[in-house]
Amino acid sequence: MPPSAAAEAPGPAGPPTPLTVELIPVLRDNYVFVLHDGRRAAVVDPAEAEPVRRWLEERGLELEAVLHTHHHADHIGGTPGLLHRWPGARVVAARADRERIPFQTEGVVGGDQVDVLGQQLEVLEVPAHTRAHIAYHLPGELFCGDTLFAGGCGRLFEGTAAQMHAALKRFAALPGSTRVWCAHEYTAPNLRWAARQRPGDVAVAQRLAAVQERRREGRPTIPSTIAEERATNLFMRAADAAELADLRESRNHWSG
Ligand code: ZN
Ligand code: FE
Repeated sequence: MPPSAAAEAPGPAGPPTPLTVELIPVLRDNYVFVLHDGRRAAVVDPAEAEPVRRWLEERGLELEAVLHTHHHADHIGGTPGLLHRWPGARVVAARADRERIPFQTEGVVGGDQVDVLGQQLEVLEVPAHTRAHIAYHLPGELFCGDTLFAGGCGRLFEGTAAQMHAALKRFAALPGSTRVWCAHEYTAPNLRWAARQRPGDVAVAQRLAAVQERRREGRPTIPSTIAEERATNLFMRAADAAELADLRESRNHWSG
């Protein structure tokens, strides 16, 4: 029988397989994010190697890339261990952090497009939590590290309130349905603080109740969405850098 022409001809390229995004809880309150197509995977901010290696191996996934948002140990600590297991994996990080993330193989700057499993991720420069912090965006998904948190924002270790305000405005301009994959489970304390700051705010109170219910069930509150953050995140709602600075100061000293 002649071979089928249809079977022989290379098919049209077609759209890339949509990626699945999942999270792995590690350490006390960190999340590592996995993007995969069922066969190949990329991870964002692996705080630890072992739980990530196990998670990938249990699902038969091959690690192709590690993406970093910033240099803190709870975001890069697992990378050397993962490279030991998958020596061919690419390591994407801010070029400006090449000394603090020395195992990077692809230094990126704002506006770069990073190909991850056939999808293009845009690099956003969002200095504030650290001076070289970056975020990754693809349609519908935002990996924002320690810049935006659900109901909060990162501490200003190396940047200014003005920089954080600019970063949050930039995120706020993304479509409301964009999922926010932030790197820590701080949502309940953030919203308890927010509810104390804005006692009459119904949207904040309702979100706090929903988040506390999720936590009682032992479930992550991540991802949130840009629409939820616009509505209930006091830092994202801040009119200007001065208001954000006041909120940051208040949140730093709050231990409720
Ligand atoms: Zn950090
Ligand atoms: Fe962190």
